[in-house]
Amino acid sequence: MSHIFPRHTKSAPPVAVSGAGCYLTDASGKQYLDASGGAAVSCLGHGDRTIIDAIKNQLDTLAYAHTGFFTSEPAEKLADLLVEHAPGDLDRVYLVSGGSEAMEAALKLARQYHYERGDMNRGRIIARKQSYHGNTLGALATGGNEWRRAQFAPLLMDVSHIDPCYEYRLRREGESLEDYGLRAANLLEEELQRVGPETVMAFVAEPVVGATAGALTAAPGYFKRIREICDRHGILLILDEVMCGMGRTGALFACTQEDVVPDILAIAKGLGAGYQPIGAMLCTSAVYDTIADGSGFFQHGHTYLGHPTAAAGAHAVVSALLDRNLIPRVTVQGDKLRRALQARFGQHANIGDIRGKGLFMGLELVEDRDTKAPYDPKRGLAGKIKKLAFENGLICYPMSGTIDGKSGDHVLLAPPFIIEDRQIDELVDKLDRSIEQAL
Ligand code: PLP
Repeated sequence: MSHIFPRHTKSAPPVAVSGAGCYLTDASGKQYLDASGGAAVSCLGHGDRTIIDAIKNQLDTLAYAHTGFFTSEPAEKLADLLVEHAPGDLDRVYLVSGGSEAMEAALKLARQYHYERGDMNRGRIIARKQSYHGNTLGALATGGNEWRRAQFAPLLMDVSHIDPCYEYRLRREGESLEDYGLRAANLLEEELQRVGPETVMAFVAEPVVGATAGALTAAPGYFKRIREICDRHGILLILDEVMCGMGRTGALFACTQEDVVPDILAIAKGLGAGYQPIGAMLCTSAVYDTIADGSGFFQHGHTYLGHPTAAAGAHAVVSALLDRNLIPRVTVQGDKLRRALQARFGQHANIGDIRGKGLFMGLELVEDRDTKAPYDPKRGLAGKIKKLAFENGLICYPMSGTIDGKSGDHVLLAPPFIIEDRQIDELVDKLDRSIEQAL
């Protein structure tokens, strides 16, 4: 009997034994094409020697030193590299162990920023429905995923959730994309007026929504209007690029594609590419200076902050993304993936929308293409696709989102940036077979 506490206690997963390139192999020798990088993690694929060697070298030198006493060379080098490529004046980096930790730090920093300025009333967060910001309590409260939140409701702070920018479902007939983007962003202003802008500390959003909505991109101008509204009311803009960042959408920082600079930015997943657990929160000098010139102490921290081995791995990952020109490759291979999905599923009776950016693509499943009626959640379609795809040797990321109580099943694809053309064909073939079996 296994003593592991698994995520799913009623089924035993196979034992993963090795990984090479875009494939994972289990103990029976079965190979899986990793078309979602786990959960958008493995941007470099598996078994990358350069990253492994960088981590081994760091372990030989210094595995760990507590940030209560020391900084370390790998942490300093990683922060320098990130800041060199980050937009605007995002020039401070707080290194944590993953995405939820990065978001938790972002929320607490936003609160402390207002607190130190004497703006004690600002404690409310406005976020969006159909978002996911992590599983720790602050991050979970901030996310809008009803399924993940439901049973923990008594533990969660009160957060406002406005509609996301969701062209496929929420754009009105005859409305231009630009007009819709502005209308969707103006929902933030409406919510501010409802709750009182002087009580709000931050607005939180993913530039491209991942797990809960299947690569939902924003309409042009949406984030610029959001930035204007935040500035007008002295609210911090926190962007969560835990899933969509680190090149996944074709830019190292996804917010640069929206032409906005947040006050606080969270990254993780692709930062470590699965070789080490790591995440980071970046903030502007204005936010940092408020703390540095005030109390001089960020009232937050974890044992593994700035972990030297994780930082050395992440430095090697970001260097590889840049030196191997992998981010332009994301756009090229992403276009091929989009075209292949369009060719196979563009006219499919039960696929209502194919969307995304770079190698971050989503398919939304519908019972009726004309009415866009979603499937009955009881059918558990996303779960069936995930299981069948896995049996067919494909790792993808199907999820059931909900929008105002209705199910919105979708499949998220986030393959490694090294994916080859023939592997795109394999991905589409296996996905097609799995969807047909599930329907
Ligand atoms: N934010 C976003 C957008 C995510 O997609 C995730 C994880 O899926 C998280 C935060 C939480 O990251 P982690 O699972 O590393 O804690």
